[in-house]
Amino acid sequence: MTTNQPKHAPMIQFPVQDHCLVIGGIPLTRLAQRIGSTPFYAYDRQLISTRVQSLRQHLPPDILLHYAMKANPMPAVVQHLAGLVDGIDVASVGEMKVALDAGVTPENISFAGPGKNRQELACAIAAGIIINMESEQELETIAQLADETGFHPKVAVRVNPDFELKSSGMRMGGGSKQFGIDAERIPAVLQRIAQLKLDFEGLHIFSGSQNLRVEAIQEAHEKTLQLGLQLASTSPVPIRTINIGGGFGVPYFPGENPLDLSAVGTNLKQLLAEIPASSPNIRFVVELGRYIVAEAGIYVCRVLEKKLSRGQVFLITNGGLHHHLAASGNFGQVIRKNYPVAVGNKMYISETETASVVGPLCTPLDLLANQMELSKAEPGDLIVVFQSGAYGLTASPTSFLSHPAPLEILA
Ligand SMILES: *Cc1c(COP(=O)(O)O)cnc(C)c1O
Repeated sequence: MTTNQPKHAPMIQFPVQDHCLVIGGIPLTRLAQRIGSTPFYAYDRQLISTRVQSLRQHLPPDILLHYAMKANPMPAVVQHLAGLVDGIDVASVGEMKVALDAGVTPENISFAGPGKNRQELACAIAAGIIINMESEQELETIAQLADETGFHPKVAVRVNPDFELKSSGMRMGGGSKQFGIDAERIPAVLQRIAQLKLDFEGLHIFSGSQNLRVEAIQEAHEKTLQLGLQLASTSPVPIRTINIGGGFGVPYFPGENPLDLSAVGTNLKQLLAEIPASSPNIRFVVELGRYIVAEAGIYVCRVLEKKLSRGQVFLITNGGLHHHLAASGNFGQVIRKNYPVAVGNKMYISETETASVVGPLCTPLDLLANQMELSKAEPGDLIVVFQSGAYGLTASPTSFLSHPAPLEILA
């Protein structure tokens, strides 16, 4: 490996004791003994809290912070975050149930996602949560359900903006999209809402995900506020809140650096300060999934075998693609790159070698690290995949090849 190749951002969020990674105050080898089997996902409670604190510190003080729980719906994680954030965004009735079980107040839960069926809408209305409407058909179904039940549904409109969040890992707004209602249709939709018996909350504008570029996020914030305020200024129904999305990214691959949260926060404070005092009193919401939980989580599997094949070292483990699709490179990546991976019980030892970490599945796609420089590992050692607290277990095909599912703990 030449020295000028891009490197992974240093994974320094977990302390190291005697060459062993420490999660939630517990050395990894001991944590593995406590859990009793590998593979597993471990999330560090304190790191999640610290991340929320840093968001509170840098973002404007009166902005509301929501957790988008599809990033990590583990009930213990949602419960922990329920006490730290202002609301939970859910994307299914299953997630709604977890958020309600965690004790989140219904009016602090919002439900987004295309294709909500009649029964799901009826559940959400009965629960009293806010439905982010993704189409005009959904609006009419909700209006019918309001008539039939006598309930007063809480709704917001998801707007498909006329711009994109540039250089995002995943674009979720702008152009033609399955999400939301096109911005140019919104004035007519607001007119329709004014005729109906709905408890109208406001607008939801989410343009993209996994962004590490400050200028791109700043530009999206500026355009989002502009669009939201312009729609609000002509709305026949009061707009109480505007959810401006999120999309803050974390560094996964060589050459990527952590997001400059302070710069994003300073700009957003400035933009909010520029809103004329004559504007209606609107509360703003930022919704984040990945940024809150990704760096607090690791995936851990054990080396079963070390194989030498024509000069290349393969560490064959009991974990893989079926547990962690994203680390294998098959969750939205165009070109496969390595996640940050380490030998968790041999951190920072001087003896290293180039090795590939693979799983037990009969497919060459089952690759957790491709020819990475790692501490020299042997059977029994613990392989750690960092940045695994979001879109890990529940974004993976756990049934593929019928191996056991991994455990999850919040330490
Ligand atoms: C998935 C999703 C999020 C969370 O995105 P992250 O990149 O995990 O922060 C937020 N809002 C909506 C509407 C989503 O669909």
